[in-house]
Amino acid sequence: MSRPPVRLYDTFTRSRQELRPIHDGVVRIYSCGPTVYRYVHVGNLRTFMLPDLLCRSLTYLGFPTHQVMNITDVGHLTDDTFDRGEDKMLVSARLENKSTEEISAYYTNAFMADIRKVNIQPAVEYPRATQYIPQMIELIEKLIVQGHAYEIGGTVYYDIATFPAYGRLSRNTTDNLLTGVRGDPDPRKKHPGDFTLWKAAGEHRQQLWPSPWGEGFPGWHIECSAMSLSLLGERFDVHTGGADNVFPHHEAEIAQSEAVTGHRVVGLWMHGGLLMLSGARMAKSAGNFFRITELEDQGFDPLAFRYLALQAKYRAPLNFSTERLAGADRALRQLRERVAAWSSQSAPDVSAPSEEWESRFRSGIGNDLDMPAAMALVAELMRSSLPAPVKATLLKRWDAVLGLDLDRPTTEEGRLPDGAAELLEARKKARAAKDFARSDRLREELAALGVKVIDAADGQHIKR
Ligand code: AMP
Ligand code: ZN
Repeated sequence: MSRPPVRLYDTFTRSRQELRPIHDGVVRIYSCGPTVYRYVHVGNLRTFMLPDLLCRSLTYLGFPTHQVMNITDVGHLTDDTFDRGEDKMLVSARLENKSTEEISAYYTNAFMADIRKVNIQPAVEYPRATQYIPQMIELIEKLIVQGHAYEIGGTVYYDIATFPAYGRLSRNTTDNLLTGVRGDPDPRKKHPGDFTLWKAAGEHRQQLWPSPWGEGFPGWHIECSAMSLSLLGERFDVHTGGADNVFPHHEAEIAQSEAVTGHRVVGLWMHGGLLMLSGARMAKSAGNFFRITELEDQGFDPLAFRYLALQAKYRAPLNFSTERLAGADRALRQLRERVAAWSSQSAPDVSAPSEEWESRFRSGIGNDLDMPAAMALVAELMRSSLPAPVKATLLKRWDAVLGLDLDRPTTEEGRLPDGAAELLEARKKARAAKDFARSDRLREELAALGVKVIDAADGQHIKR
């Protein structure tokens, strides 16, 4: 089958661009990864699914890919936008009474386990920020020599006034960048929007490195410039992240990488829409989030979350609720049951009638990863009058992109008894409110349904 053009929406130009791989036909992709001082939530997983869908779709369409995702194991500060506040890695280390290395190793493993649950295929490489400190220092030295950065008392700032395109990606003007400033930024900065490249040690006692400016630690943004330039070179095809990474993180990355190289580095910027819960962005800091393991403990198939995410355009915000997840879970199980039933029928020649369906699927995914269109095609195929084995063959083939384990045998065992999910949710809330009398009552009600609850440090788990 011929390879149709792939068009992807680029945040930088605010338009769809045809993907033309820069090097030897291989699409090189850099993805902003997790900060590893806490568990990832399903909002984070939605953002990490974007490069997974991109790589799966491109591979399906005949473009080989090479994806790198960084692991941020240097704590950045609680106020990312203006680089202030406490260091989150050190806060977790203090609270959990562990070293920063133990914290990052533990949460990196948890991240790897969580992405596996939603069938996110691994990147080729997961570079860790702490392994790239010399490369970061080298970039900062170059920026100082070029006049794009200045040092004050062991801290180095990027001088945003020296990079006229600063604000282009996020459509911010330098004046506008000020309106978000709360409190007093460092009065020694040339411009309040100047961001940190290297921070003097100050009160820090851990995660410090020697540098030409004294002991300190790198700013968050310089990490991604150092790792992307080191691993993918001075020009690569696609950079991904969440919508909240556009400013300041990616704006700063462009200012750093383009100043050093003297040219554009990233071909296309792709940003995933945020996952929302009860009208607000799902966020660990606000306490409104779900981990994928929590949803699994409530009886949902983790891939039901993937199914839910596939029903929305990746760039659009998506409202999450357990009701919507329950709908996705039912639909997914039904789809698997059909595939199993259809597969057992004997197959006629599948090639002729499937060609048109196949080309519609390909043009959907090649059209800025239009997964809602692909899922609508799945629904249309199910209702169609095609021979059953042809349907099964097509669905199993498309599953290379969808990643829903459509040929997994389904059983009744995975399903919770009616009402149990609601009771588990109510019990979680009661425990959070320290209403133990109520949580004990709910435990008994769950036991009556045949669901045994076990309390562990990271929440309640169930046994059936
Ligand atoms: P963090 O570990 O906080 O840096 O987040 C990792 C990634 O998850 C970042 O690329 C964020 O853009 C993304 N992210 C954070 N919150 C959400 C959300 N509610 N929905 C989608 N993506 C998110
Ligand atoms: Zn990044």
